[in-house]
Amino acid sequence: MPHPTSTPLRAARPHALPAARRRAVQRRLLKWYDAHAQPFPWRSARDPYAALVAAVCAQQTQMSRVLEVYGRWMETFPTLADLARAERASVLQTWGRAGYPRRAVALHETARRCAEQHGGALPREPEALLALPGVGPFTAAIVRTFGFDEDSPAVDTNIVRVVGRVVFGDLQPARDTPRSEIEAATTSLFPTGEGARWNPALMDYGARVCTPRPRCEECVVASMCAARPRFAAGEVAEPVRAQAAFEGSERQARGRVMQVLRDAAGDTSGAPVTLAALAKRAGATTAEERARVRMLLRRLADEGLAWTDGRRAGLGQRPV
Ligand code: SF4
Repeated sequence: MPHPTSTPLRAARPHALPAARRRAVQRRLLKWYDAHAQPFPWRSARDPYAALVAAVCAQQTQMSRVLEVYGRWMETFPTLADLARAERASVLQTWGRAGYPRRAVALHETARRCAEQHGGALPREPEALLALPGVGPFTAAIVRTFGFDEDSPAVDTNIVRVVGRVVFGDLQPARDTPRSEIEAATTSLFPTGEGARWNPALMDYGARVCTPRPRCEECVVASMCAARPRFAAGEVAEPVRAQAAFEGSERQARGRVMQVLRDAAGDTSGAPVTLAALAKRAGATTAEERARVRMLLRRLADEGLAWTDGRRAGLGQRPV
C-alpha cells in the first residue's frame, strides 16, 4: 500500500511541443509582449545588479511593493559597491517593511562576497551566481537574462502556470505538474537569442492573461493551448492553497520586533534599545509574551537581522 502522502507515479509526458506549434507560440507571445510589456526599470537597465535587486525583491511580493522597495533601494545603494560598503543597519532600514528581511541580508552578503571574490562585480556563470547568498535558479536566470543578455529560462509562479497549461493541459500546474516537467518544457519552449524578451513575456502573460482564472477568450495562443478545451468545457482551476493567516503569526510578531528596532535606529542607524523597552514597544505585557520577544530577538540575531548583548538590542550587526 502506498504511503498516504506519497505522490502517485505516472509516466512522464512529452515536454516539447511539435516544432511548428512551438514556433507559433513563441511568435505570438513575443508579439503580445512587444505591445504590452511592463516598463519595469530593471528590464531596460542592462545592469546585473539592478536585475539581482529586482529578482530578490520580487520573491513572494506583490509588484506594487516590489516597485516601491526597488526604487528606494536603488536610490540608496545605486551600485553593488555602494551596497558592499553599507552598514547592515542601513541596509535593513532601507528594506523597511517590505517583508522577509532575510532577503536584504542576502543581498548585502552577496555584495560583500562579490567585492571579495569577484572583483566587485556579479559573476556571469550560473554556478558562480548560484553560490551567492539568496540566489536560486530564478534569480540567477533573471540576472543572466536582463544583466548579461544570456539565454537562461526562468521559472516563476506565472511561468509555471502558462507553460503547464499550454504544454500539458493542467489547470493548476503549480499543484498538478511535476517541477521537472515544467522545467523541461520551459527549456524546450525557450526561443534562442530572445531571453530578455521571452522571460518577461511569459511572466507578464501569466500575470495579465493566463491568470489563476484565465482570460482564455482574449488569449493569443488559445488555439494551441492544451488546457483551453478544459476551461471552455467549464472546468475550474481550484486554488492551490489558502495563504496562512498573518494575524497572530510568528511572522507578524517578528515584524513588530523589527519595526521597534528600525524605529529605535531612526536617524542614527544602529542605536540600541533596552530589552525591557523593546518588549514594551512590541506590545508584550505578560511574562510569557516578553519571553517570546526575547526568543524572536535571538532568532533575528542568528539570521543577522539584529544584535543583542543580553541587555540591549539593535538593528543589524553590533557596532564595534
Ligand atoms: S487559452 Fe487560457 S489557459 Fe491557455 S494559455 Fe490562454 S489564457 Fe492560459
